[in-house]
Amino acid sequence: AGNFRLGEMCDMRRGKTFIICGPSGVGKGTVVARLLASDPSLYFSVSATTRPPRPGEEDGVHYHFLTRETFQEWVEAGDFLEYAQFVGNFYGTPRLYVDRAMEQGRDVLLDIEIQGAEQIRQKRPEAVRIYVAPPSWEELERRLVGRGTEDMEKVRSRLARGREEFAAARDFDYFVINDTVDHAVDEVRAIMLSEHCRPGERMEMIGP
Ligand code: ADP
Ligand code: 5GP
Repeated sequence: AGNFRLGEMCDMRRGKTFIICGPSGVGKGTVVARLLASDPSLYFSVSATTRPPRPGEEDGVHYHFLTRETFQEWVEAGDFLEYAQFVGNFYGTPRLYVDRAMEQGRDVLLDIEIQGAEQIRQKRPEAVRIYVAPPSWEELERRLVGRGTEDMEKVRSRLARGREEFAAARDFDYFVINDTVDHAVDEVRAIMLSEHCRPGERMEMIGP
């Protein structure tokens, strides 16, 4: 072992999974996009969903857009690491790509809702769970309405869901407030960096 540089050490490390969770409209996708743009080694797990694509969303990039039938086939085949229903649609994390990326030593980002985060906590307790919160509930509503992708009924359901689930944030590993995107991105980066400084992984690099 001895004097390697961190870049070389990446070849030896195993990737970690980071779960980004938080109410709809808080800015998870925005924060994730910034992280991905600044670090090409990060792997974003593209989920499957039965929700129709929004304008600008591409199949295979933002989601794998599936019919309910196909989604059900993936469920039955055991292809999902987790899946859940959220405000009228199904969402799930395909297992294969996540495992492949981690074996390559890449960190994996999951943008998933809270039931899915709980399933992963049970199956993979080492996954790091980050809750992203809005600076206020009024601001959350402004963002979700401002995005203009859901009708008012869906906006209301999503806001209500966010409020209901907020108490569960206490059990997460980290809590980031997305006041400005810069600030939230900095905090998530700091969390990722710190998690790679834990003794287990570092000691394995050096050997007994
Ligand atoms: P989510 O993925 O959590 O549902 P999005 O990333 O789609 O949320 O963001 C919802 C809306 O809020 C988008 O219009 C986005 O541009 C805006 N937004 C995200 N982060 C911020 C921020 N820090 N300040 C102001 N607006 C933001
Ligand atoms: P949206 O419809 O706004 O893209 O996503 C709605 C919610 O579904 C968000 O909270 C998002 O994090 C979550 N979500 C996206 N993909 C998955 C997934 O694979 N599994 C689970 N459980 N939730 C997901």
